[in-house]
Amino acid sequence: MTTTPILEARDLHCTFQVRQGMFQPKRPLRAVNGVSLSIERGGVLGLVGESGCGKSTVARMLLGLQAPTSGTLAIGGQPLEEIGRRELAKRVQPIFQDPYSSLNPRKSIGSIITLPLYVHKIGAPADWRRKVEDIMDLCGLPKRAYDMYPSQLSGGQRQRVAIARALVMRPEIVICDEPTSALDVSVQAQILNLLLDLQKELGLTYVLISHNLAVVELIASKVSVMYLGRIVEEAEGQAFFRQQRHPYSQALLASVLTPEAGLGVPDAQLGSAFPNPIDPPSGCTFHPRCVHATELCRTTAPLPARDADGLVECHLFKDTVPAGYRDHDQGVRL
Ligand code: SF4
Repeated sequence: MTTTPILEARDLHCTFQVRQGMFQPKRPLRAVNGVSLSIERGGVLGLVGESGCGKSTVARMLLGLQAPTSGTLAIGGQPLEEIGRRELAKRVQPIFQDPYSSLNPRKSIGSIITLPLYVHKIGAPADWRRKVEDIMDLCGLPKRAYDMYPSQLSGGQRQRVAIARALVMRPEIVICDEPTSALDVSVQAQILNLLLDLQKELGLTYVLISHNLAVVELIASKVSVMYLGRIVEEAEGQAFFRQQRHPYSQALLASVLTPEAGLGVPDAQLGSAFPNPIDPPSGCTFHPRCVHATELCRTTAPLPARDADGLVECHLFKDTVPAGYRDHDQGVRL
């Protein structure tokens, strides 16, 4: 029996028109260039890639903050356009990287966590304090924190407040955008364990956006690797960490990953630097950094090949994947 995915994106594109200099004409930047994703209820999809690969634009589209240029998005089988902003905010909530800037320093913790209930008129105001204290308790925050201010809490506690604020409306899906990268290494594991506990307790589905594969390995049930706006590999979590099939995924795993925010993935194993997305390389966009690149790679973009283990977008796989699994329905790549 097949179940409807809780979240499904099909052939999403998001193109921005950008100017590189004051007198230069605008040019298209394809931040997301044909991304398809699907996740079952209760799963954790790890979306990984370097800074600039388009993963945060995907997150903004999933949250309804950025309209796709084309493609479709559905929550529980219902197209996003039919859901409406308020309903979407109840069902999909974000947790951002930086708990310092995402919490209003002039508001008490109680009012920060109550705000979504107030804005979306959830339940009776008389019940709000109890709801907020319940979620604070689940997130490991003491009752006395209710009347405290963000400046009185540690970085880890502030991220717990951000998590409590995201969960107080009991969403189905949580988009976690680098949820631990602004935290001390010693606190990161605590926050990840908290996210896992909350997932089980509340039946949540997570989309975990991260450049840190150690974090993804710990909690993701499925991994999608993005490069220059495309998904280049997709696999079940354990299978992916046992064996990566795309050369970019192999290079990512071979790199020494940094847990520090904004540093991305070091280039040690990847040769030249991440290309300018306005001027993407011809053919396979990974070819300038790929140790396996051939003349075909320089001229022709590979099509996604899907098999029982997932998806790989690389010419090395076009002959190994059974013809029946070839995924040519995405047409000609731009
Ligand atoms: Fe490397 Fe070619 Fe595969 Fe691209 S298509 S990842 S350049 S082998």
